[in-house]
Amino acid sequence: MNQVGHLINGAVVTPEGRQQPVYNPSTGDAHAQVLLASKATVEEAIASAKAAFPAWRNTPASKRARVMFKFKELLEANADEIARLIGLEHGKISHDAMGELQRGIENVEFACYAPELLKGEHSKNVGPGIDSWSEMQPLGVVAGITPFNFPAMVPLWMYPLAIVSGNCFVLKPSERDPSSTLFIAELLHQAGLPAGVLNVVNGDKEAVDSLLTHPDVEAVSFVGSTPIAEYVYQTASAHGKRCQALGGAKNHAIVMPDADMDNAVEALTGAAFGSSGERCMAISVAVAVGEEAANTLVRKLKDRMKTLKVGAYSDSSNDFGPLITVAHQAKVEGYIQSATEEGAVLVVDGRNPSVTDKNGFFVGGTLIDHVKPGMRCYDEEIFGPVLVVVHVDSMQQAMDLIDAHEYGNGTCLFTRDGEAARYFSDNIKVGMVGINVPLPVPVSYHSFGGWKRSLFGDLFAYGPDGVRFYTRRKTITQRWPSSGVREGAQFSFPS
Ligand code: NAD
Repeated sequence: MNQVGHLINGAVVTPEGRQQPVYNPSTGDAHAQVLLASKATVEEAIASAKAAFPAWRNTPASKRARVMFKFKELLEANADEIARLIGLEHGKISHDAMGELQRGIENVEFACYAPELLKGEHSKNVGPGIDSWSEMQPLGVVAGITPFNFPAMVPLWMYPLAIVSGNCFVLKPSERDPSSTLFIAELLHQAGLPAGVLNVVNGDKEAVDSLLTHPDVEAVSFVGSTPIAEYVYQTASAHGKRCQALGGAKNHAIVMPDADMDNAVEALTGAAFGSSGERCMAISVAVAVGEEAANTLVRKLKDRMKTLKVGAYSDSSNDFGPLITVAHQAKVEGYIQSATEEGAVLVVDGRNPSVTDKNGFFVGGTLIDHVKPGMRCYDEEIFGPVLVVVHVDSMQQAMDLIDAHEYGNGTCLFTRDGEAARYFSDNIKVGMVGINVPLPVPVSYHSFGGWKRSLFGDLFAYGPDGVRFYTRRKTITQRWPSSGVREGAQFSFPS
C-alpha cells in the first residue's frame, strides 16, 4: 500500500515507526498508510530548518518572492492533480477542491509581494545627524499545525508568507488527508526552494507536542478545533513561543423579515451543506426574525433541499461528498438523534442518504427547526451538513444570541435595510461579518480570524496580520559623528 512519508531537508523520507491508514471517505476503503513522526523525526526536521535559516534569511526578499512566483505557476499547472488528491482523501467534489486551491493560490500571490511588505519604515534626521528605521526581521524556525478540512488552503495561509519573510518552516498537516499537502510542498521545492526551508512532518499528538516544546521553534500557527487550539496556545506560550491558534465555530446567519428570501435560501443552502458542512465558516444556525420569516424560510429550505445531490468526490455533478471518517459520521448522526430527543423538530433527516456506495461516510443535508440554546445541536460545533433554525422576535434578540455563544468566527445578516446592516456589523461580537454574504472569508490581502473562543492569540492569519506574526520589528537609531567632534556625557533623557 502507498506510504505517505515526511519531507525533510528537501527529500521525502519514510523512517520505520508508527503509521495509520488514510481512507477514501467516498468508498470507506483505506488507500494509503501515513507515517506518524516520532519526536526524533520532528527534531530532525527542526534541525534542518535551523540549518537552512542563516542563508535563507540573507537571501534578498525579491529572490525569495521569485520562488513564490514559480510556485504559483506550478500550483496552477497541477491544479487537477491537487484537486483529485484532496477529493480522494477529504471527499470534496472537484469544483469545491478547485475553489479551496484558488484561495490558497491567492495567499501565494500575496506572498509574492514580500519586498514591498518587508520594506519597513525610515526617518531621516530624528535628531541632529541621527537617522532611525524599523525593519521586519524573520523569527527563525516557525511551525504550522493544520486541520483536515482544507488540506491545501490552510497550509498555504501559513508557510508562503512565513518563508517569504525569511523564516524556515516545519509543517504538521492533518494525518487524515496528508497527500495533497505533501504533493504541494514538493512543488515548492520544484519551484527552487532550497532544502530545509520547508519541512513537512506527518503525525499526531507526539509530533505536535515535539514542536510545541522544542526550544528552537520560535512561533506556532495552529488551525483546528477549539479544545486543541486552546491546548496548543497554552503549551506553546508556556514554552516561550509566539502563538496564534484558530479554533472552531458555530456561525449564525440572521434572516430578517425584509430579506430577499429566495436569495437567502440559495445562499444558506450552499453555506450550510457545501463541503458537507466541514468548513469553519459554514453557516450552521439560521436565526429567523419573526414567525412569518421563520415559516417561509423553513418551507423554502425544505423544498430546496429535495434537489441536493450527495455522493462520491469523483462525480462533479454532486453538490457535496462524504464526511471525513466513519467516526465523524457517527458523531454527526448522534447530534441529529439528540435534537429529536431534546424536543427540536427534524424537518429533513439526512441519515441514510441514497448514495451508490453504502460504505462511504455519507450524511445528507439535514434541517432541524425550533432549536434552542441548551440543546447540544445548538451549543456545540457539529461540523456536518446540518442546519438548525432558531426563532426570535427581533434583530437585537438574534444578536444577543450570537454574542452569548462561545464561538465568534463568522456571521451573516440577510436584509435589505442598510441601517440594520450597519448596526449589526458595528456591534456584533464576531471576527468576520457578511451582509448578504454567507461565507465572508477575507481575501488574502486582508486577514482571517474569529473572536471569543474561535481564536487564541491576538493576530489573525495571513494578510497584513500574517506579516506581523512571522516577523519581529527592530528599530535602529544611527549616528555617524563628524571626526574630531567631542561631546560630553548627557545626563538628561535624549530629546
Ligand atoms: P483537530 O483539532 O482535531 O486537528 C487539528 C490538528 O491538531 C491536526 O493536525 C491534528 O493532528 C492535531 N491534533 C489533534 N488532536 C491533537 C492533540 N490531542 N494534541 C495535539 N495535536 C492534536 O481539527 P480537525 O478535526 O482536523 O479540523 C476541524 C476543526 O478545525 C473544526 O473545529 C473547525 O472549525 C476547525 N477549523 C477552524 C478554522 C479557523 O480558521 N478557525 C479553519 C479550519 C478548521
